[in-house]
Amino acid sequence: MKCKVCGKEAWIKIPSANAAFCEEHFDQYVLRLVERAIKKFKMFEGNETIVVAVSGGKDSLALLHILKRLGYKPHALHIDVGIERSDYSRISEEKAVKFASKLEIPIEVIRVEEIHGLGVIDLAMKRRRIPCQVCGLTRRYYMNKFAQELGAPVIATGHTLDDMVAALFANLLRWDLSYLSKGAPLLPSEDGLIKRAKPLTFVQDKETLIYSRLHGIDFASVECPESRFATFKRYKKLFESLEEESPGTKRQFFQGYVKNFRIFDENKPSYELKPCLVCGYPTISKVCSFCRLWFPEKAREALQE
Ligand code: AMP
Ligand code: ZN
Ligand code: ZN
Repeated sequence: MKCKVCGKEAWIKIPSANAAFCEEHFDQYVLRLVERAIKKFKMFEGNETIVVAVSGGKDSLALLHILKRLGYKPHALHIDVGIERSDYSRISEEKAVKFASKLEIPIEVIRVEEIHGLGVIDLAMKRRRIPCQVCGLTRRYYMNKFAQELGAPVIATGHTLDDMVAALFANLLRWDLSYLSKGAPLLPSEDGLIKRAKPLTFVQDKETLIYSRLHGIDFASVECPESRFATFKRYKKLFESLEEESPGTKRQFFQGYVKNFRIFDENKPSYELKPCLVCGYPTISKVCSFCRLWFPEKAREALQE
């Protein structure tokens, strides 16, 4: 097998692109996929500070590496959600901080337990909520807050094509029009909500893994012990097997969504964002879901006033 670009002995086969590449041209292929997404969805201007949310895993560390190589100005942010099992949070933070420092990229660590006195898992148990939901909501809240305080106009996350496709599939199964209108690779800013970009939208999990290995990125390979049974993971596996049988399925499925995104965007439920009565975070209700979750008493008081 030969590299599609230079004809040298191929190093890797990418069935979804119907191609094989040498190391150098695989690297270029990944960079071009990211550049294409940035350009197509007009994610960045070029000279602004980009808050890059890094979990310490392969995807977000690869994203940090790629954005730096493409000449952007990333500022990393890691949120320590306080998951002790499997040493998950400790290892994740260590990898994130080490890698950002190696690239000489500034990194901020926000520690949920330090702020609230407990981590997301304990809170989820206390409130009888699904841990992943509590964790996701808390992370998004602090990402937005941090970017706002830093004066950065955009937050980038390491969601890959596999993540986009699994989320799209889940939302389609429920015909959740509200979420379907928010699944685009770029969510524009709205009153107080910072713009959110997913530059790895066209890159697959497998590809970020190979990219990370190619560049010797030391990422956390421990997966979140709380998400082991998440339905999301089942959808990812499902698409992995579909992809194996018919390479390109994921890309095609997601591209169809992007092409028809207008349908969901035009029919999205209308809402007005107003500052939360407790914390000022933009919300469609009087008190935001973060405050209702973390500060139920304050939320109740604010609603009674
Ligand atoms: P996940 O929801 O774990 O698939 O993560 C999706 C993306 O969210 C990652 O690629 C990161 O950009 C971001 N992210 C996840 N966990 C964290 C974290 N603890 N701190 C900062 N960003 C995170
Ligand atoms: Zn080549
Ligand atoms: Zn609030």
